[in-house]
Amino acid sequence: MKIGILAIQGDFAAHAAMLRSLGAETAEVRRVKDLADCDGIILPGGESTTQLQFLKEEGLFEAIRKFAKQGGAVFGTCAGAILLAARVKNPEQDSLGLLDMTVLRNGYGRQLASDVFFEVSKLKKEPLEMVFIRGPIIEEVGKGIEVLALHEGKPALVEKGNILAATFHPELTDDGSVHEHFLKLAGSHVAAASQPR
Ligand code: GLN
Repeated sequence: MKIGILAIQGDFAAHAAMLRSLGAETAEVRRVKDLADCDGIILPGGESTTQLQFLKEEGLFEAIRKFAKQGGAVFGTCAGAILLAARVKNPEQDSLGLLDMTVLRNGYGRQLASDVFFEVSKLKKEPLEMVFIRGPIIEEVGKGIEVLALHEGKPALVEKGNILAATFHPELTDDGSVHEHFLKLAGSHVAAASQPR
């Protein structure tokens, strides 16, 4: 299993360390060719406006959309979740539009903007540690999107098919359960794509 990580800014190294501790191979993605042979890609936190501009300049914007449409798994955390959302507010900006949801950038306000919380999730029995750093609020999700965890009553971990998004930073904790879930997702879509028809 090989997972690419968009490596232009933010905490891509923490994602790589987490994935390797779970037995996956990782690759830093800065050019379209870096995506070759990847079963999945992680879009890490950072500043979504800067990342969006980079993706467009490098041709990665279209390449990632194509990768996802062909069954490649995509996991966006925080700014990465903003890039995946079909609709972005505060302010409005373009996005990959791979998940039918509306996000409000920096939505948790000043006090709640950056802190650690423990929340119930569908991934495991124990509460899931969530590190928020000026994360977005997922205001609404379309039909068919599964909400795996909430924070402050709003979806914080959501998925549909091969696409997963978190408004928090699982790579900054010692808890590998979200990444483990992503690896399963990437594995099942690889298996499905290689099934004889
Ligand atoms: N506030 C950032 C944005 O709107 C996201 C913050 C993060 O990724 N930690 O793009």
